[in-house]
Amino acid sequence: MIGGGLAGLAGAMKLAELGIGVDVVSMTPVKRSHSVCAQGGINSVNATTRAQGDSEHLHFDDTVYGGDFLNHQPPVKEMTDWGPRVIDLLDRLGVPFNRTPEGHIDRRRFGGTLYKRTAFAGATTGQQLLYSLDEQVRRWESEGAVKLYEWWEFLGTIVDDGGVCRGCVIQDMFSMEIRALKADAVVMATGGCGLIFGKSTMSMICTGGANSRVYQEGAKYANGEFIQVHPTAIPGQDKLRLMSESARGEGGRVWVPRTPQDKRDPRSIPEKERYYFLEERYPTYGNLVPRDIATREIFDVCANLGLSVEKDDFCVYLDLTHLPPEAHHKLEGILAIYEKFAGADPRVAPMKIFPAVHYSMGGIWVDYEKDAKTGGLKLGSPKNQMTNVPGLYAIGEADYQYHGANRLGANSLLSCIFAGLIMGPTLENYFKSLKQSAADLPASVFDRGVKKHKDHMDRLAARSGNENAYKLHDELGKSMTANCTVVRYNDKIKQTLGKIDELSQRYQHAPLADTGKWTNQNLSFTRALGDMLVLAKVIAMGALQRDECRGAHYKPDFDIQGLDPGSKENMTTQARRWCDDFKRRNDQWLKTTVAIHTTDGPMLSYEDVDTSLIPPRPRTYGLKGAEEIMRIWKTEFQADAGAAPAAKAPSVPVGAGL
Ligand SMILES: Cc1cc2nc3c(=O)[nH]c(=O)nc-3n(C[C@H](O)[C@H](O)[C@H](O)COP(=O)(O)OP(=O)(O)OC[C@H]3O[C@@H](n4cnc5c(N)ncnc54)[C@H](O)[C@@H]3O)c2cc1C
Repeated sequence: MIGGGLAGLAGAMKLAELGIGVDVVSMTPVKRSHSVCAQGGINSVNATTRAQGDSEHLHFDDTVYGGDFLNHQPPVKEMTDWGPRVIDLLDRLGVPFNRTPEGHIDRRRFGGTLYKRTAFAGATTGQQLLYSLDEQVRRWESEGAVKLYEWWEFLGTIVDDGGVCRGCVIQDMFSMEIRALKADAVVMATGGCGLIFGKSTMSMICTGGANSRVYQEGAKYANGEFIQVHPTAIPGQDKLRLMSESARGEGGRVWVPRTPQDKRDPRSIPEKERYYFLEERYPTYGNLVPRDIATREIFDVCANLGLSVEKDDFCVYLDLTHLPPEAHHKLEGILAIYEKFAGADPRVAPMKIFPAVHYSMGGIWVDYEKDAKTGGLKLGSPKNQMTNVPGLYAIGEADYQYHGANRLGANSLLSCIFAGLIMGPTLENYFKSLKQSAADLPASVFDRGVKKHKDHMDRLAARSGNENAYKLHDELGKSMTANCTVVRYNDKIKQTLGKIDELSQRYQHAPLADTGKWTNQNLSFTRALGDMLVLAKVIAMGALQRDECRGAHYKPDFDIQGLDPGSKENMTTQARRWCDDFKRRNDQWLKTTVAIHTTDGPMLSYEDVDTSLIPPRPRTYGLKGAEEIMRIWKTEFQADAGAAPAAKAPSVPVGAGL
């Protein structure tokens, strides 16, 4: 198991329970994995949400609708069906979830849904989940079923002559020893790649280096261009720190003064002089529209309307000052972060926030087996979560499977833990099909893997030149953030692709600042930078080729504009044309981007998405003319759009957000 975040620990725990020995490899102590930063919560329905009309099907529907239908539906259905049981399991493991006065697990509302569906432990949910899973894994460690390799870095896989993954090569981050680990399967639970964008809300080890390494060794990488930019983070010089969606889930409001750069104390600005733009533009979802939309609106208000609170440093207010002390109490974990890094108390003064790179929907391509009866997954199938390399699996943020074009808040923790848990029966059955164990293979298979990475390290140490890896990283991040995040234009993306090529050349002349053989962090970073450059190209190429708008991928030049009630053309004609355009767009682009590594850069192809359970439909949050569009879509287009609506299909609020 490469990675000891929520996905890796859930997987290790489940495998150990089934009597399967696991080595867990992690660059950090597992309790410091990036998952520890997760703040707001984890989604699933329960008896309380059901009483409000919620259901597993609505959770499923919100997830694929929020993801703009780019998610394969069988895995998402299975995940949302298992949600309640995942929470029950975590509860039994001792996670201190917040409770209602009656003793039920409390829920808050998160983005992209109208239901309070998110279970939480204050605003430090990731930490509480991670520590509980860590306790379980330590228990198995004490019984000899798990061996932890903390402070070891994954360098690459070992594949036998038949193309089957048989282990991996790792490096001790203290002694710099490189060695092989034999394994009958390797699971990548290595998280996301935010550092490619320089500054992000992710932890500083989230380089995507490990994911890039398996991609360079032949694993496919899917939907790389789908990068989530979270609407609310604290701008910072060193990194960007998240102000969780839970702040809005507890009632926080986003606004700007109607007067540009109003110098008054925000608390003295009267209500009618404030522009609550998310509430005004999206009355149904309000401050809790999906993240891609909230982010674009904040950009629009700052960049196009000129209403940023500060003229030169774009930001808007996230206001919690009106909330009662009980709500503040539930958010203490994040309020402390704001106080510490912004130097102001968010209980008494509105916070200043701006969007930041946050999550990668794309990741290592993985397979699944569909259950023909349920439409979900065939649990226990060795295909579930397997990459195109036999014996190599991927789970958690490292894979691409669950979130389509835009992840809903609080769905990641669920997808990580769910995918980790299903690795148990998946691998148990995969092992049954193996004719030979890694332990029986000749030592030469493993020795050549070790040699490859020692040679790589020696080449890096022998480099000379005037370039500086940290400077190159800074330039990469700035170009990626400027041209491959919220609003994308092809000419700008091409500039970034040129920049990546230039940086890749200059990278060859970036020597190690430290060639020592003890805790050489400079080696680790410089090596990862090479891998980031490779993955950056996958992201930028995917973005360049995808000429459409879908979820987090927004190209104004290919946007399908809403209807114009003031036009001479009647609304029905406009709606029909809109639906035509929308159908054409889906015919061409409702596809998974799949990248294969070649020495000339990524080779991209496109695969169909399984939309067999919920037919794709227009995403109408805030869309002008949504009611008429949906009427025409249902009566004239839906039958051709894919599957028949599922029996329990919900009545989705038409034109929600108008
Ligand atoms: C600030 C913040 C708050 C968030 N809040 C929420 C939330 O409230 N709800 C929600 O659903 N999602 C949230 N998310 C998203 C969620 O936290 C992550 O998607 C999720 O925790 C990822 O878990 P993971 O197990 O896949 O990876 P990680 O937790 O990132 O773990 C990756 C593991 O891989 C190891 N690793 C990586 N590279 C190597 C290598 N080369 N060699 C060895 N080991 C390696 C690391 O050491 C680590 O153990 C948040 C994200 C951020 C940034």
